[in-house]
Amino acid sequence: MKEIALRIDVDTYRGTRDGVPRLCETLAKYGVKGTFYFSVGPDNMGRHLWRLLKPAFLWKMLRTNAAGLYGLDIVLMGTAWPGPRISKHLAAQIRAAAEAGHEVGFHAWDHHRTQAKIDTMSDEEIREEFRRGLAELERIVGFAPRTSATPGWRTTERLLRIKTEFPFDYNSDCRGYAPFRPEIPGAPLQIPVTLPTYDEICGRDGVNDANYNDRQIALLREDKLNVLTIHAEAEGGKCAAMFDGYLDRVQKLGYQVIPLGEAAKRYADASKGSCSPQPFPGREGWLSVQDK
Ligand SMILES: [Zn+2]
Repeated sequence: MKEIALRIDVDTYRGTRDGVPRLCETLAKYGVKGTFYFSVGPDNMGRHLWRLLKPAFLWKMLRTNAAGLYGLDIVLMGTAWPGPRISKHLAAQIRAAAEAGHEVGFHAWDHHRTQAKIDTMSDEEIREEFRRGLAELERIVGFAPRTSATPGWRTTERLLRIKTEFPFDYNSDCRGYAPFRPEIPGAPLQIPVTLPTYDEICGRDGVNDANYNDRQIALLREDKLNVLTIHAEAEGGKCAAMFDGYLDRVQKLGYQVIPLGEAAKRYADASKGSCSPQPFPGREGWLSVQDK
């Protein structure tokens, strides 16, 4: 079937402002549509980066050149002053992606807070993230998104239960190998991400910018749905030329790049499955991973 479902996570102010338009251009060049998961509330990612200042994270910063990747203003954002609200200033960029025919999904209200505090937030606080974020996206694009992706793949059973209260057709909240239906009443289809992200593998095991695309392409499977996450901050910034080259190569290899929603339709009767918090190579702390 040779398919790659493409998910674009937009975590920051800068990613929305600069990365989204750039990615829209690149995707248009190859006639490709993807699923953008937007963060729309305050950008406090700088706080997120500083919170993680410990040896393993410092090593990762050096390994991936985070200041170069995210920009110093992003690294500092939300540390000394409150982060700016993305949807207030950058509605035009979000709307343009929708108008270009890309699928629009909900990533977060406050990406930093949700990723860092999902374990300690109350049910009501989590609901409020969804309410505010979905209302804001609806205001911008004219409809409420039918899909969501939790920040940092930090999904718990409690979060999956809360999500059933919102009208999502499918979600993408974990890492794994194949679409499945969680064993939670009313929970819609899950489409796990099957491939690693740039910051997870670049700088490790001999992977660098020169051979990154080779490594990603070697991981593609012809016999199953491939799901790739790119970030507006990376593939829409420092890694833009590399991602352009990736699309060129996968298309020449006969792969079709599609939005997650298109794949979701075909997996409506996927079998039951589950995911659980696990450590993950190249990431701090835990991620939700599909159980075998
Ligand atoms: Zn994210």
